Amino acid sequence: MKTLILGASGQLGIELSSLFPEAIRTYSSSEVPGGVKLDVTDFQVLEDFILKVRPDVVVNATAYTDVDGCERDRERAMKVNSEAVRHVVRASRVVEAYLLHVSTDYVFDGGKGMYAETDLPDPVNYYGLSKLVGEAYALSYDDSLVVRTSGVFRHKGFPVYAYNTLRKGGEVLAFKGYYSPISGKLLAEAIKELVETRRTGVIHVAGERVSRYELALRVAEAYDLPKNVKEVDEVRGWVAKRPFDSSLDVSRARKLVSVDFYSLEENLKHMVV
Ligand code: NDP
Repeated sequence: MKTLILGASGQLGIELSSLFPEAIRTYSSSEVPGGVKLDVTDFQVLEDFILKVRPDVVVNATAYTDVDGCERDRERAMKVNSEAVRHVVRASRVVEAYLLHVSTDYVFDGGKGMYAETDLPDPVNYYGLSKLVGEAYALSYDDSLVVRTSGVFRHKGFPVYAYNTLRKGGEVLAFKGYYSPISGKLLAEAIKELVETRRTGVIHVAGERVSRYELALRVAEAYDLPKNVKEVDEVRGWVAKRPFDSSLDVSRARKLVSVDFYSLEENLKHMVV
């Protein structure tokens, strides 16, 4: 099976690369040893590359994930998170590759939380909107699966920020609200199973629902650090709105996937600090 990982330099991409050691891997600005430099907004180059490689499976782990950056540079958000997916789909269709595309809990408005696959998306920021359009392109192709996830962390993400801040004696500012954080490692393991079973449609793969406040306290406990955590309503410098409760209902994935990607305790073991 020839697998192509787009975005192998990201948190998820790095973990996928170790699970698919034979995969062809691409990066954009952070070089990956043995990888191919490919900017997915060079649409013609992107299509030509997929047509040349003729993969059996394409995993799209690329995204412009800077939520405030997407709000400021909407054109880039749309190009990376939406338009590029259209071109991935066009080429995947020609070579008859199965496509696994990764999306986000931020497609939801955060009004109710514990969103199921059947709930109606209604993003409150441009990142979420651009990812929702990307989903629509991916789902226009029969042989595709959209995996929605939440709060991916590895060497970046809120728990890593909390760890670094507490270690330096600082105060963690935890934005009020809930989500379903997951480690890049366990997300990658679940994705591997979903690829192997060739699931299609939409599926939610994420961790336990938790507030950022509670999560920071759990990090403090796990690493025996001071519990200097404050819950805040706003974070200085943020320009994009955040959904209040973007947690995901993952019951479908928990039935289909054997790896335990859900437990917060297990996920926190895979922070890279
Ligand atoms: P990262 O920000 O760690 O990685 C993003 C990846 O996309 C990198 O490999 C980056 O390449 C690549 N990329 C960005 N722009 C381009 C471009 N123009 N051309 C080619 N590649 C590009 O993201 P994560 O691994 O954390 O996220 C993986 C997926 O999970 C994404 O689909 C994201 O939307 C989704 N998700 C993430 C969440 C999170 O909290 N991080 C939450 C919910 C969903 P390079 O670094 O080489 O430039």
